[in-house]
Amino acid sequence: MTVPLKISEARERVLAAVSPLPSEPVALANALDRVLAAELAATTDVPHFDNSAMDGFAVAPGPSRRLLRIAGESRAGLPATAPLGPGEAIRISTGAALPLGAGAVVRVEDVVENDGRIVLEVPVAPGENVRRAGEDLRAGTVVLRRGTTLGPAELAVAVGAGVAKVDVARRPRVAVLCTGDELREPGVPLGPGEIHNSNQIVLAALARKAGAEVVEARAVPDDRDSTERAFADALQRADVVIASGGVSVGPHDHVKPALAELGVEESFWRVLLQPGGPTWFGTRGSQLVFGLPGNPVSSHVTFVLFARPALLALQGVKQPLPPRGDATLSEPIVRRDRRERAIPVRLEGTDTGFRAVPLGLQGSHITSSLSGAAALAFVPPGEGAIDAGGHVEVEPL
Ligand code: AMP
Ligand code: MG
Repeated sequence: MTVPLKISEARERVLAAVSPLPSEPVALANALDRVLAAELAATTDVPHFDNSAMDGFAVAPGPSRRLLRIAGESRAGLPATAPLGPGEAIRISTGAALPLGAGAVVRVEDVVENDGRIVLEVPVAPGENVRRAGEDLRAGTVVLRRGTTLGPAELAVAVGAGVAKVDVARRPRVAVLCTGDELREPGVPLGPGEIHNSNQIVLAALARKAGAEVVEARAVPDDRDSTERAFADALQRADVVIASGGVSVGPHDHVKPALAELGVEESFWRVLLQPGGPTWFGTRGSQLVFGLPGNPVSSHVTFVLFARPALLALQGVKQPLPPRGDATLSEPIVRRDRRERAIPVRLEGTDTGFRAVPLGLQGSHITSSLSGAAALAFVPPGEGAIDAGGHVEVEPL
């Protein structure tokens, strides 16, 4: 049996066990939230050509009060056919190609137009209102790094880079197994002692949000055979098995012996954490198995603390652990003797930073304490309490 670890130590063990998944090409339209598996270089300059930043006239740079003849037009997608000659201006729209011979653009608001001619009311400096080719992205340079998660803004850069597909990490395949004879499907009327299986929905949702493909999510009865068969089957199909319940030391907790039988090696059991103390983690080759405690708040919190970083690291995310920040507590929180507390909180902005507001009762079975939570607040172990106004570290959920 392994000794209980601190949260940070348990996270290190988990991340050390991760080998990144192989990559696959994906069309940009399907690449949202995927993680780049290779550096992406621009294939062309962006913009591709010198163009106008304003609606106005392409002109030679020079003084105010000049009278120029309108010699043509350059529109978006339809460049002017002839270069700009002496004494000429070419009407130009935002984004349209700058005609040859024109060194600047004067805004339509800064000229008086009359009978095919304009008079400039301002001097025009070289390059004024011109967007230069390559000023956004330069052909050949890396514009997105490996390990970058593709949000909408990164997809724009990828389009600009001139590619139609990107190489991204394969989605981790996740199986969710919820142990418990008491579990019933959502919405089913409950008999004596039965409860609705919330972990199955929650853990699958959390896994999907972390980029996983959930290949299976089901309940498993509390007997040794069913447990072993369910895990054997899940290990056939999944990179990561996430189980809830059955990892304590009761007579109906079959997860640990079943996993031992299947060749999954224990990395740790128990974290100095509340809620979520009995968390189990093990590996079989490159496969990861999480045995999270059954209490809904414990399983949610331990997923966030341990399983999510693993899923992100499998996809090659550079910083799989969320950033930590400082907040002040809205109410006192009692410390635990040896265990660090992870408390779901709302965050409120104040003049000096964030205030962490715990959400209702703190029991590990109180699911309403997680609804509306924005972060986990960490209360280090020790004596007494952290008072209202005292500082805690927080991590976004
Ligand atoms: P266990 O870790 O199996 O001892 O379960 C601890 C507590 O969590 C018990 O009250 C269970 O009924 C409850 N629980 C276990 N699994 C689930 C689940 N999938 N959904 C909701 N509650 C659960
Ligand atoms: Mg159970």
